[in-house]
Amino acid sequence: MASSLDESVFASSAVDVISRCRTLAAYSEVAGETTRLFLAPSVRKVHEAVTAWMAAAGMAVSVDAAGNIRGLFGAEDAPRLVIASHLDTVPNAGAFDGILGVMMGIAVVEHAAPSGLAIEVIGFSEEEGVRFRKPFLGSMALVGELEEHLGLADASGVTVREALIGFGLDPGRLAEARMAAGTMGYLEFHIEQGPVLESLDLPIAVVSALVGQTRMEFRFTGHANHAGTTPMHLRRDALAAAAEWVVAVERTARETEGLVATVGKIAALPGAVNVVPGVVTVSLDVRHASDAVRATAVVGLVAAAEAAGASRGVTVEHAVTMEQKAVALDDRLTDLLRVAAARLGVETATLTSGAGHDAMVVAPHVASAMLFLRSPGGISHHPDEDVRVEDVETGLAVGVEFVRGLAAS
Ligand SMILES: [Zn+2]
Repeated sequence: MASSLDESVFASSAVDVISRCRTLAAYSEVAGETTRLFLAPSVRKVHEAVTAWMAAAGMAVSVDAAGNIRGLFGAEDAPRLVIASHLDTVPNAGAFDGILGVMMGIAVVEHAAPSGLAIEVIGFSEEEGVRFRKPFLGSMALVGELEEHLGLADASGVTVREALIGFGLDPGRLAEARMAAGTMGYLEFHIEQGPVLESLDLPIAVVSALVGQTRMEFRFTGHANHAGTTPMHLRRDALAAAAEWVVAVERTARETEGLVATVGKIAALPGAVNVVPGVVTVSLDVRHASDAVRATAVVGLVAAAEAAGASRGVTVEHAVTMEQKAVALDDRLTDLLRVAAARLGVETATLTSGAGHDAMVVAPHVASAMLFLRSPGGISHHPDEDVRVEDVETGLAVGVEFVRGLAAS
């Protein structure tokens, strides 16, 4: 028999989830805004509040050696579903990026008490990469990858190892922070942080993959010369070549389904109003859920840069500064999410995530799924970041139905 979306059951929980997110947003390093980096003093207050909520929901609560807070509902040795997201923020953040996923995990436990399946809710200590310029430190601890980054230093020269010890944690016990052997699934609720769901007028989306990314730097080298005495046909204008290419980047992305490409940084030398630009450096950021499509796009964009330069006597050099493969989410769990939504009569979209999330780190190790909630105005990483109470209600209902389906499968 199909379940129905029982408004009264999830409505008050959705209000609680949002009010808990707002409560945590007040724990900050900067008065009047939400700024809470990895292992900041205000994290202790977050842990206190989250511990109380988790304990009230019947979970056994602990903080692991990476500073992740973990609540386990059910038996230690039962097959386990992890529901997680992050509790750190960007500077001057909103109340929901990451936090919402942890609060929804607790709310799912409050409603779903499946027999035979344990649920572990985890609030990751670090995802945004602000303090150590390296994201996902919290979730890396689950898959045994944090150890290799303990030597990273923050702007004050404090290493990850020293920061952990300073917070009262023991980096020597990181092995104990790994996912339990019986973990059979990972679910992350997260705000979309973009405008697509709002444009579709839908509350939630099932995420199929997290996009891969290439970051590059291009250097166009022509010849600087007098802007008044150098005739147009004798110029080697590096900026004109780069400009033609920037427009080609936009055109390529518009013409390729699912591709986003951005030139976000440009510098022209010598940078004077009366000098033909001699050297221009520009950045490129290309993302797609298919690594093959992204690789093809990059090859095409390199050729386009060389062509834009060649017609002007401008040489082009390029270097890849960062490359990250796309991460596919698990088909079975993703289908279970769709089935759960369908049973409740909830229409969902399927999206790829253009941003990185903790699921990216976990997915190569355990079957993982993600559910996006609509971001009003598409706004995120900003104090105006918001979520609709009825969308949280829908997300919770689908999450609980998903857990029931998983326990029965
Ligand atoms: Zn996030």
